[in-house]
Amino acid sequence: MINSPIIGVTTSVMTDTLVLHMNPCYPDALLRAGGTPLLLPQTGDASAVARYAQLIDGLLLSGGDDIDPARYGEAQSWSCGDICPQRDEFELALCREVLRLGKPIFGICRGIQLLNVALGGTLYQDLKSEWPGSLAHQQHQKPEYTSHPVSIVSDTQLQHILETDMLAVNSHHHQAVKELAPELRVSALSPDGVIEAVEHMQLPFCLAVQWHPERLAWRPGQDAHTALFRAFVEACLR
Ligand code: MN
Repeated sequence: MINSPIIGVTTSVMTDTLVLHMNPCYPDALLRAGGTPLLLPQTGDASAVARYAQLIDGLLLSGGDDIDPARYGEAQSWSCGDICPQRDEFELALCREVLRLGKPIFGICRGIQLLNVALGGTLYQDLKSEWPGSLAHQQHQKPEYTSHPVSIVSDTQLQHILETDMLAVNSHHHQAVKELAPELRVSALSPDGVIEAVEHMQLPFCLAVQWHPERLAWRPGQDAHTALFRAFVEACLR
C-alpha cells in the first residue's frame, strides 16, 4: 500500500520456552487502520536500537509483564508481577530514541507504564495492595468486553480524537502510573482516580492508554477505540 507508515511493535519473549510472543490483535489493528506493522525483536545492541528508530515511522509499545521497579528507583514488592529486565532495557532505550527523534508513539497497558518510566515517572507496583478501595482493574470478563468507564480530560489530544468525555474500557492491569513524568499530562481517569491515559505536552503524537483498545477496535459500537488506531497511523504519515 502506498502511504502506509511502518510502525514498529515491541514484542515479548516467553521466558520458559524462549518463544517470541505477540498477540496478533496489535498488528491486526494497525493493518486495519492502514499501517504496516513491523515486529521488533528485543536487542541490547544500541546501534540496532538506533537503526530500528530510524527505520520506523512510529512506535507501538505493546502490553506485557511488569517493569522492574529498579527502573524507577524502588525495591521490588511482593505484589509486583513477573519482570523481564532485557525487555525493559530494550524498550526504554528504543522509547527514548524515538522520543528524541520526535516520531509518534502509542503505548498500550504496559506501554503507558513504560512511557511514564522512560520520562522519569513511577508506578504503583500493585493497585489492590497499594490503593485500597480502587476498582477491580483486573476484570473477569474477556478483553472484548468493557468493565469500567474513564472520564476524558477536557481539551486534551485524547478528547479531540475520541470526541467524547466518557468512554467504557476494558481493564487488565494490576499496576498503574503513580508519579506522572514531568513532560506528560493526564488525559483520562477511572472513577477511583487511577490514571488511565497520558499524553506528551510537546510532541505532536505521544499518547498512551492503560486499557486494551486493540481488543475493542472495529467491533460494533466501539468506534472510539478504532479512532485511536486511525489517529496514530495518520500521525505516522506526517
Ligand atoms: Mn482500568
